[in-house]
Amino acid sequence: MQSQTQTTPPPRLEVRHLRRAFGDRQVVDDVSLTIQPGQVLCLLGPSGCGKSTTLRMIAGVDMQDSGEIYVDGKLICDTVFRIPPERRHIGLMFQDFALFPHLSVADNVAFGLKTSKDEKRARVEALLAKVNLGWAIDEFPHVLSGGEQQRIALARALAPRPRIMLMDEPFSGLDNRLRDEIRDQTLSLLKEEDTAVMLVTHEPEEAMRMADEIALMRHGKIVQQGAPYNIYNAPVDREAVGFFSDIN
Ligand code: ADP
Ligand code: MG
Repeated sequence: MQSQTQTTPPPRLEVRHLRRAFGDRQVVDDVSLTIQPGQVLCLLGPSGCGKSTTLRMIAGVDMQDSGEIYVDGKLICDTVFRIPPERRHIGLMFQDFALFPHLSVADNVAFGLKTSKDEKRARVEALLAKVNLGWAIDEFPHVLSGGEQQRIALARALAPRPRIMLMDEPFSGLDNRLRDEIRDQTLSLLKEEDTAVMLVTHEPEEAMRMADEIALMRHGKIVQQGAPYNIYNAPVDREAVGFFSDIN
């Protein structure tokens, strides 16, 4: 008789026991995380706790001392095997998201695409429509506001349909009023694209607003992980209480 075992799909991203030291400082200390497709995980913690270092190892621009990284159940990096960054299907967004100033908006968004000219154009038009910047397709970046450039950068990062989006404090350069609007717009676009998202932030309010799940990081370790509501209502210790106390 045939067995009827149901196979659940593997997580989109799985990080197991990641460690990284600089000199004698253990900056990332046994970090394990999983993210499902369509899920936004916020890696939240104070400045210097090891968030960006974690993100850089997942992106493949820094190398862990030990631990493994899997995408859709396939090993992409351990201490002996390493798929290079450009073949990881990972999109990146940073605070300094700089668009290429000498390229039009259309060429900026199409930059990572290796498809035919017509397919490129169709993808660029669809993404620009989603970020409400269809009108800017033939403009150059310098005519756009900071918020508009940010949305172009998001469209550019999503254009090659990355399996995972890694975002490192992408909204910190924006003024408050603009930030809420761009956070919401970014979130709805990410949800439509069904990518898995790791959003790095030191702002509890941002994590509460955007995360499906929060991983609270301190001194290189994940000290608590769960739904935003649970983390906010039952912080793991006094330090976590203090960290969340600025949210009004
Ligand atoms: P976060 O993003 O949470 O602010 P980082 O991951 O950037 O923290 O940095 C964590 C710690 O590791 C910091 O103290 C930082 O100075 C140190 N660090 C990061 N990168 C390097 C490096 N390439 N060489 C030495 N120290 C580093
Ligand atoms: Mg950082």
